[in-house]
This record gives sequence, structure tokens and C-alpha cells, in this order.
Amino acid sequence: MKPAPFEYHRPSTVDEVTELLARHGPDAKLLAGGQSLVPAMNFRLAQPAVLIDLERVAGLAELREEGGVLRMGAMTRQRAAERSPAVARGAPLLVETLPFVAHPQIRNRGTVGGSIAHADPAAEIPAVMLALDARFHLRGPGGSRTVGAGEFFTGLFGTALEADELLTEVEIAAPAPGSGWAFGEVSRRHGDYALAGVAATVALDAAGRCSGARIALLSVGEGPVLASGAAAALLGGEPTADAVRAAADAVEREIDPPADIHASAAYRRQLAGVLVRRVLPRAFERARAAAVQ
Ligand code: FAD
Repeated sequence: MKPAPFEYHRPSTVDEVTELLARHGPDAKLLAGGQSLVPAMNFRLAQPAVLIDLERVAGLAELREEGGVLRMGAMTRQRAAERSPAVARGAPLLVETLPFVAHPQIRNRGTVGGSIAHADPAAEIPAVMLALDARFHLRGPGGSRTVGAGEFFTGLFGTALEADELLTEVEIAAPAPGSGWAFGEVSRRHGDYALAGVAATVALDAAGRCSGARIALLSVGEGPVLASGAAAALLGGEPTADAVRAAADAVEREIDPPADIHASAAYRRQLAGVLVRRVLPRAFERARAAAVQ
């Protein structure tokens, strides 16, 4: 399989990228790690007339911690994030999740920003970003803007990115004292896209009651899904087995999973509940350990 002909640009600054995007508009596609875009081009599912390669754009792969905030350039390779001590401190949920994304060879090329911008409903990174309440920096010809993960994902492969914008940076607040996290998924083989997955962050107050919960799911909707009913079932109470069961029941009620050749909607719904029951106790265990440190 070969892609349709395209014009190739390799800019070296973000300003050059936005100029190219403004000039070519919807005919152009940004190339990051190419692990989703290139297969789509080879199958002619995507036929961009212009390809703008982000590989050599200065500063887009920078990773730094600044006043309790982790800042990750969009071109940070998934494998680099997985191995980074700064990400382990600032976003341990992401480090726990990355080994579930494809295989090491793909993560060596694939970028954190590419996965977020691609917004595949079965992808792990968008769900993790939702659970972490990450913020995304977008740059267009008119300047920069920041969008929260909750507003960024807008449906099936849909995002808040305009055709002339790129994602430049991901911002994640460091875990607060007394907070915990966990990820779990079920796939037929390790590295396959999951049939369902759950990423959760939780927080406990000094009395051991749940003071915060964000439960995000993948492969059960048109994009990553934030289960607000399940979080509400936990808030203000002790994280007992009954509370976890109530949260799992709420998830099963509030999602509307798709059916495909891999799994029925009913199977995905049940799987989501089972995963919530597995993931939340681990997250609360970590929160308890963080609270006593
Ligand atoms: P690209 O493929 O280069 O780009 C993807 C899309 O995002 C394109 O439309 C591009 O224009 C846009 N884009 C990229 N960067 C930006 C930016 N900075 N601003 C705006 N738009 C941008 N993913 C999973 O989550 N889970 C899996 O289990 C999984 N399994 C895989 C198995 C195989 C065999 C392969 C080939 C891929 C798999 N992937 C999986 C996808 C992989 O994680 C990709 O790396 C990821 O989806 C896209 O990242 P990328 O850097 O390769 O982006």
C-alpha cells in the first residue's frame, strides 16, 4: 500500500507551522510519530495534499516541572514519557498506563500529543488525560489558547482543535497529598486496542473520606468518557467495598458502549463495571499510603 501523492514540509519553528497551516488549511495534516496517520494514508483513508512534519520543530519535545505542574511538549515520545522520572513524579497514572499502548517499537515513535490529537475512542492516553484533568495548549495564527481535557474531546475522533491549530503542550498538575490513581484494561492480547479500559484518580481527606474522584473510560463511547455519576457515588463517603460497588453500578448505568466485531455493547458495559471494581480499590490504597507519608 502506498499513500496518495502529497507535498512535504519540515518546518523548524511553531510560527512556521502555523503559517503553513494558515496557507494550506484543511488540505494539510500534521505529522507527529506517524503511527496512526501513516497507516491511514497507506490505506488511503487519509489523503492530505500537504504533510507538515513536526519532527524538527524546536521545543515541542521539551519536558519540565514548573511550580508543581508537569509540562510536556506535544512531541514527547510515548516511550520517553514512560521512562521519565519527571513524569513518574508528576503523572504516575500516565506511566502506569503507557505499557498498555501498543508495543515498545510503536511507543518509540508515537507521541503523547499525537495520541491526544488523534482522539481515538479506544486510545489510553486521552482517557488518562481526562482522569488527570489535563490542560492542553493550542497555537493558531491568532495566538495561543488553553483548553481543559473535559472540553477538548468532542466526539468520534473529534477535538476542539481548529484546522489551523496545533497542540503544543500538555499541562498536568502534580498529584495532591492524599491522592491515588490506577489504570486497568482488558484486551484480547497485550498491546491490542482494549475492549474497555478505566483510568481513575481519587483523593481522601484527613478523615479518610473521598474528597475527589475522576473516573475516565475508553472504548465505551465516541471518545474518552468521564463517568460523573460514578464519581458522585463516591464523594463524601468512605471508600468501602459497597461504595466501590455503587460506583461500578453507576458506570454501567451511565455509559452507552458501541457494539462491533470484537464485543457486544452488553459485554463492554459489564467489563467496564468489573474494571471499575478492580481499579478503584488500588487507587484508594495509594491515596491512603500517600496520606500517611
Ligand atoms: P500521528 O500518527 O503522526 O498523528 C495522528 C493524528 O494527530 C494526525 O491526524 C495528525 O495530524 C494529528 N496530530 C499529531 N500531532 C499533532 C499536534 N501536535 N497538533 C495537532 N494535531 C496533531 N494507540 C493506543 O492508544 N493504544 C493502542 O493499543 C495502540 N495500538 C497500536 C498498534 C499499532 C500496530 C499501531 C501502528 C498503532 C497503535 N496505536 C495505539 C496508535 C499509536 O499510539 C499512535 O502513536 C498514536 O495514536 C498517534 O500518535 P502519533 O504521534 O503517531 O501521531
